[in-house]
Amino acid sequence: MSTATTHPATLDDWKRHAAEIAPREGIYIDGAFRNAESGETFDSVNPATGEVLAAVASAQSADVDAAVVSARGAFDAGDWSRSSIGDRKRVLLRLAELINENSIELALLDSMDMGKLVSEAFTVDVPSAAGLFAYYGEALDKVNGEIAPTDPGNLALVTREPLGVVGAVTPWNFPLDLAVWKVAPALAAGNSVVLKPSERAPLSSLRLAELATEAGLPAGVLNVVPGLGASAGSALGLHPDVDVLAFTGSTATGKQFLRYAADSNMKQVWLECGGKSPNVVFDDADLNEAVEKALFGAFYNQGAVCSSNSRLLVQKSIADRFVSDLVERAAAMRPGNPLDPSVAQGALVDAAHTESVLGFVERARAHGDIRVGGQRIDGGCFVAPTVVTGLGPSAELVTDEVFGPVLAVQTFDEEDDAVRMANDSVYGLAASVWTNDLRRAHGVAARLRAGTVSVNTVDALSAQTPFGGFKQSGFGRDLSLHALDKYTGLKTTWIAL
Ligand code: NAD
Repeated sequence: MSTATTHPATLDDWKRHAAEIAPREGIYIDGAFRNAESGETFDSVNPATGEVLAAVASAQSADVDAAVVSARGAFDAGDWSRSSIGDRKRVLLRLAELINENSIELALLDSMDMGKLVSEAFTVDVPSAAGLFAYYGEALDKVNGEIAPTDPGNLALVTREPLGVVGAVTPWNFPLDLAVWKVAPALAAGNSVVLKPSERAPLSSLRLAELATEAGLPAGVLNVVPGLGASAGSALGLHPDVDVLAFTGSTATGKQFLRYAADSNMKQVWLECGGKSPNVVFDDADLNEAVEKALFGAFYNQGAVCSSNSRLLVQKSIADRFVSDLVERAAAMRPGNPLDPSVAQGALVDAAHTESVLGFVERARAHGDIRVGGQRIDGGCFVAPTVVTGLGPSAELVTDEVFGPVLAVQTFDEEDDAVRMANDSVYGLAASVWTNDLRRAHGVAARLRAGTVSVNTVDALSAQTPFGGFKQSGFGRDLSLHALDKYTGLKTTWIAL
């Protein structure tokens, strides 16, 4: 596979590339862009500058219906759903290559659309998206079916079949990558997909669809319907001809998709929702590394990470030293221009989200100590990394997802307290544990109610390992071969010989 383009080194380099960007603005159906039937658009705004990047077609139910009809037609035609494994693999691997070849543009689209650091989009999000198409393309000829034990004279074949039309609804925090978490396994399994990206960051998904066509994906197999949640999102969730709805986003919206399924065709729904993930630090850990990773776990991507380690639980014996080190280093993480490689933090996605994050901080002043940060920077969509201590178990910052750069710190005495506090949440997406005691690492990891437990690191994930939540963080798993289960149905074919 060809490698990614060379990393632009300076702010000026990135600005020069940014000036060449021409965002796609249409709804992508049947392998071509079109306007919304209503002619309506919504603005994509760069939160770092306030500049309008594009007037994107706003899909309504008629457009979503056209996309589903196109997807169903492509599925029934069989050019993809019944294509040879070799053909499908070739297209997915070519798409991986094209993503890498266009990595500067894709990284800039995400950065300019929602404020993340372009260098992180370039080095993490885009290679991950390319890698997932390659991973699922490569998996196709390595996954076997089963033959079930039967009485003599019978043969029972157990196979996995594509389900048909997959609706995918995705959030804004890793716009390209999280869309690919759904699209890559769904396509690999032979389905057609209608993707509804977040209205706060739709641009990379539109470009992805175009690249998929260039890679050889037949028209109609991947359609993209940019639009608002209440219109395009609900139309997809309620559509009677969508077989599976794979969602990543907030828990409140996830519940809405369960209702849509019940009110329409009982489509399968898979939910990847919010989190309030604990990071538990015991006094025998490597504290220098634990501080560094606690900052990363809480503030990476401006804290807009579903599995963000937004609750830090520190053993009392080391708490003062640990927190003062943490606060000192957080103070140096000043946000700024997301295209500037020397900046540590980018912008929040928009003004409304910035207000929401600042609101959490203001309300926390009554219950805890703001040790660092808490303020808006330069009047824009920038909030300084914020650390709050002295919070009780029912404080809003301890219970609710902020999805911004705000870290709630609590202390504990013993292992049992740590486990109880860590599990005291409606969420169960991820957790981290820091200790050099092997027995304690295994023991605590086993007791934590979370889909991923990272030991002596934070937020560990890979293409090969399943990712998803317990409790109200959702169900079903993205990534790994297990993700294919969501997009396939088990079929038994019983032959009486
Ligand atoms: P969101 O729920 O507001 O929106 C997610 C998607 O749902 C968007 O495409 C949006 O347009 C659509 N939507 C919103 N309201 C809708 C409605 N009423 N009907 C139909 N569709 C609707 O979430 P967000 O702000 O984009 O993303 C942040 C949330 O996503 C956080 O809670 C975060 O934890 C979660 N998230 C979870 C994971 C995971 O893997 N578990 C990953 C990333 C983000």
